Formats: sequence, structure tokens, C-alpha cells
Amino acid sequence: MAKLQTLKSRISTVPSRLSSIQSGSWRTSKASSTARGYGYRWQKERSAYLVEHPFCAYCLREAGISYQQDAVEIGLQCTAAGIGLPYAQVVDHIEAHRGDVQLFWDQRNWQSLCATHHSRDKQREELGL
Ligand SMILES: [Zn+2]
Repeated sequence: MAKLQTLKSRISTVPSRLSSIQSGSWRTSKASSTARGYGYRWQKERSAYLVEHPFCAYCLREAGISYQQDAVEIGLQCTAAGIGLPYAQVVDHIEAHRGDVQLFWDQRNWQSLCATHHSRDKQREELGL
């Protein structure tokens, strides 16, 4: 538990450092989501992607199930493995796009994640922890 606490505090220092570097935080500004590419198009493509890939890539990986297959087939394998269907809530960029428009829209660089995996594992990976 103490270890987790340390990790959390390390993670939370990063955004504050970022916003102190950039004048006018892009995280809080009203125009930020559109300016960063998370506008209407993203909302639309994200929803479509989640329909096609409704399950969390990391949950599936932990269960030893391949993410790159039909959702129905994945559902059957989860049932066979005796685990609940790990529904995803978030579409994540596998490789951080860092403003790279091409990488941002490349669906081969997308994966569906559940909220838990998105906030926990992904931030840890991006921080190189
Ligand atoms: Zn998950």
C-alpha cells in the first residue's frame, strides 16, 4: 500500500510540472479538447472503435486472450476461461502520439482499455516506471 501511495504521488507531480512549463494550461482551458484533437471527430471514431473493440486489451492480455479478433469470439473465450467480460471505457494510444496527428488517427495505434487499466498501467508505462 505504501508503495502504491508513492507511485500515485509521483504520477500526480507530472501534470503540475507540465502546466507550469506551458503558459495557460491546455488541460483546463475550454478549447483544449478540440485543440488537442479530442474534438467531435475523435468522439465519433472513438465510439465506433469501442463498438468494434468493446473489451479491455490489458484485461484480455492478463487472461491470455488475443485482442485482435472478433468481439464475439473474444466473448466466447472469456466465458470459456470463466472470467467476466472486461468491457473497455477508454480508447488509448498504444504509442503516445505527443501531438503527432498521423499517429493520433492511426487505428493500428489504438486499443480499448478499462478505466482501471487506463489510469494505472498506462500512466506507469508512459512514465517509464
Ligand atoms: Zn482492463
